[in-house]
Amino acid sequence: MKICSDVDGVILNYIQGFIEFTKIEKIPYTHNPKLYGVIRNFPNNVEVRDQFHAGDYLRQLEFYDGSLEILNMLAGSHELHLVTALEPEQSQKRAENLKKLNYSSLQCVGDDLKQQIIIEQIQPDVMLEDRPELIEAFHRAGIKVIFPDWHPYTKGMERFATPFSLWQEIPDLLQNSA
Ligand SMILES: [Mg+2]
Repeated sequence: MKICSDVDGVILNYIQGFIEFTKIEKIPYTHNPKLYGVIRNFPNNVEVRDQFHAGDYLRQLEFYDGSLEILNMLAGSHELHLVTALEPEQSQKRAENLKKLNYSSLQCVGDDLKQQIIIEQIQPDVMLEDRPELIEAFHRAGIKVIFPDWHPYTKGMERFATPFSLWQEIPDLLQNSA
């Protein structure tokens, strides 16, 4: 089976990393977990994002519980492709953060190309994604989608995809979709 996964919000806790960044850099910030994304409320949002990405924060985001172990197990018998909306310039930091993970490929493609690359180039059997617009888009493209339901912003996505609460549920979910 060809498995494709998003990274931020699914494998790595980008949100927590961003919150810690704002505390360390003394940037006033209140996170709204109901909304997708972390920089939407900053008037200078691209600047804030660039500041976050310029530091070492992006090398050391934490794995969600079980994600590393379960993905490495799955990588033993499936193709595992990772595609993230991070800009290509961040590839090295991302690879460092994911160095313990046995993936087949890792692409940092930027926001604009992600959907197209996954649907047209990778063509996975299963996609793991947390961004609501993309969950719907992949579903409409005929891809089976699995999404983490611990983010309040994925509420309602059961219309298009299968939720999971713990990474340990993923092997069974994949088996049922084979
Ligand atoms: Mg994501």
